[in-house]
Amino acid sequence: RLGLPGRRVTVAGLGVSGVPAAKALHALGARVTVVNDGDDEPARAQAAELEALGVTVRLGDGRTLPEGTELIVTSPGWQPAAPLFRAAEAAGVPVWGDVELAWRLRGPGAAPWLAVTGTNGKTTTVQMLASILAAAGLRTAAVGNIGTPVLDVVLSGEEYDVLAVELSSYQLHWAPSVRPHSAAVLNLAPDHLDWHGSMAAYAADKGRIYEGNQVACVYNLADPATEALVREADVEEGCRAIGFGLGSPRPSELGVVDGILVDRAFAPERHKNAQELAEVSDVHPPAPHNIANALAAAALARAFGVPPAAVRDGLRAFRPDAHRIAHVDRIDDVDYVDDSKATNTHAAEASLAAYEHIVWIGGGLAKGAAFDEMVKAAAKRLRGVVLMGADRAVIREALARHAPEVPVVDLDRTDTGAMAAAVHAARDLAHPGDTVLLAPACASMDMFANYKARGNAFAEAVRDLRAPGAGQ
Ligand code: ADP
Repeated sequence: RLGLPGRRVTVAGLGVSGVPAAKALHALGARVTVVNDGDDEPARAQAAELEALGVTVRLGDGRTLPEGTELIVTSPGWQPAAPLFRAAEAAGVPVWGDVELAWRLRGPGAAPWLAVTGTNGKTTTVQMLASILAAAGLRTAAVGNIGTPVLDVVLSGEEYDVLAVELSSYQLHWAPSVRPHSAAVLNLAPDHLDWHGSMAAYAADKGRIYEGNQVACVYNLADPATEALVREADVEEGCRAIGFGLGSPRPSELGVVDGILVDRAFAPERHKNAQELAEVSDVHPPAPHNIANALAAAALARAFGVPPAAVRDGLRAFRPDAHRIAHVDRIDDVDYVDDSKATNTHAAEASLAAYEHIVWIGGGLAKGAAFDEMVKAAAKRLRGVVLMGADRAVIREALARHAPEVPVVDLDRTDTGAMAAAVHAARDLAHPGDTVLLAPACASMDMFANYKARGNAFAEAVRDLRAPGAGQ
């Protein structure tokens, strides 16, 4: 176990993860100092709360390593290149994230972790996995990057049989000794490169999730970069590489045959090494990328010994969180779908692949992304496009290059009322049988508080189409 009592621990940053980490470390007997760059009102309030407990807080200087520091515990948001970490490296002081701390604080016989990372689909897959594990009668929780932090669950003292853990690339960077029972990398597309420094560094951090796996390293057959990470990983003896994909599975794979999810990796010989798990229609929503998520969740559950019937029941019981391909309404034979959570091109490309004829509503903050690939992949299915938000120009240019015949309505607006105008313009472009899809491929903060507010504005505008003025 971790010997924390009396150790001098520096916590990097206040905020949502720093404050609970400082409290937990203090309660475990460590001598805690929190360092924080900012010195504003919210920081002072948090500092006062911690100081009342006996924690030392240094505001206005997050760069200098406090004298005598034996360990740094950092918030995932801190960049590896921060001066504090360079000073730590020079002094031989280890740096842990909250996930590493959670891992080290697990007691003997603690629940094993089934872990998931990837550029897109993490939350959905972890929730599907938890639903499957619960259907098998296991005591479990979906924890990690979003929602309940894994540290909270470990410190709660509650007993679990297994945890479904979502890990971001930031968290993996600061979690050197985590050893999942089994893990999946769903996909790998450029994202957060400013934080990691390069695509290679981002991929390497994602790849850490496979380190020390005991039973299965689950990878995406459609994304060779994920398989490459498995090959590079140092795993326990007997740990297997298991691929998942939408095609007919080969041995050691999970896939789809005639609308049925089939396991050819963990099925016993008496079933001729192939078992049917569920129907595609058991997956909500049954979009291709989401069936891939379901296969990844199923692979991890099967690696843990969950029977096929529980995979089916868990998938049937699962519904995704709001704003992830949520069907809002059908008006005049046109479907309106809210995928506001598609905040990057990789996610938007996946949801654009799920429909035949689309009026696409996109735009917002592009975060430096290129739109050519996404537009090229979707061009044939676009009935029309409505653009709004700050970074419309790059999207318009990509459309002009790869989909010159597709009509584009450029709203040239960034006010919140633009969403109602966008929905009206989309309705005018749509033919019966089409789907109006909000999948912006961009962040929302130029126009909205977050992706949820953006999705809600869309849903409200659609409601207003059906009953004009009803919401006012
Ligand atoms: P994350 O936790 O990784 O952000 P979510 O499950 O919240 O993932 O989904 C985020 C967005 O990514 C959603 O808009 C969804 O449509 C899209 N998405 C989900 N799964 C995938 C996938 N396997 N590949 C590509 N995009 C996906």
